[in-house]
Amino acid sequence: MGSGGGPLRAQRYGDMTTDTLACRLLLPDGANKGRILWPYALTLGVYHLVALLALLPWFFSTTGVVLMVAGLYVFGTLGINLSYHRLLTHRGLVCPKWLEYTFAILGVCCMQDTPARWVAVHRRHHEHSDQQDDPHSPLVNFFWGHVGWMLVENRDLERLEIYSRYAKDILRDPFYRRLESLLYPTIIVASWALFFLAGLTWVLLTGGVLADAVQFGLSLLVWGVFVRTVFVWHITWSVNSLAHLWGYRNYETTDDSRNSWFVALIAAGEGWHNNHHADPRSASHGHRWWEIDATFMIVQLLEKVGLATSVVRPSQRPSDTRVDD
Ligand SMILES: [Zn+2]
Ligand SMILES: [Zn+2]
Repeated sequence: MGSGGGPLRAQRYGDMTTDTLACRLLLPDGANKGRILWPYALTLGVYHLVALLALLPWFFSTTGVVLMVAGLYVFGTLGINLSYHRLLTHRGLVCPKWLEYTFAILGVCCMQDTPARWVAVHRRHHEHSDQQDDPHSPLVNFFWGHVGWMLVENRDLERLEIYSRYAKDILRDPFYRRLESLLYPTIIVASWALFFLAGLTWVLLTGGVLADAVQFGLSLLVWGVFVRTVFVWHITWSVNSLAHLWGYRNYETTDDSRNSWFVALIAAGEGWHNNHHADPRSASHGHRWWEIDATFMIVQLLEKVGLATSVVRPSQRPSDTRVDD
């Protein structure tokens, strides 16, 4: 199976007699299942394990849980959906630079790699969506599309090559170039420290003892950082996996993207993924009145107060008949 375009169906194999799920796509040419990317695999593993500490009552605090839920929106919706995806990858809106960088820093705290890397991989996904060169099509299998693609070496995604092909515009900006250096891990460690120290300091300043202060600080760290990060990961990954497998289609795109109300709900509008593949530049992913897009509501709010301009609206609307269910 060669790389490059080619008819969608020609690159699949398996039982073609039943539905799409029975079709299977080959791994990308550059992927080598035998070569685990240990830094990624260990980071994902350790984060999941630390997040499991939340099951121990000692790490519980109501404030920690509130920060976790709020963090899904502050870090996930603003950092990934609005910044990494709609603003940086697809240029669906323009924000003042100070705000754009602030949102990008929130995205960095989600541990989904640097803005340049995320943008490059995602643009490649759009270019080859559900074809063999797609970095993370779930038509290979669900696990591959959800998380497996990050755990093994893929020569197609070597940094310098995809940067020069897909992320030149991002890397022209010195801020995003600096994020390719130690600044990226520094921001992440600083965010851990911020959550822990905020809890610690609060208890000490309000007359508590050191042991209680440490316990509260750790509860904010475990819930506010680790549980939240793991949740945001699975939410983002669900767009790649679930929203290419289950749901309805408003548009006949060349991929298997789907509109999933479930993913749209947990991912603040990103689940209207068939609409998005049909019209990638649009900052609005909901194309029907009932396709609620919480991320776009924030964009509209920013536009109203003058903090978002050049907001790209849908270039088309679905006809009344769905393509399929
Ligand atoms: Zn997609
Ligand atoms: Zn996209």
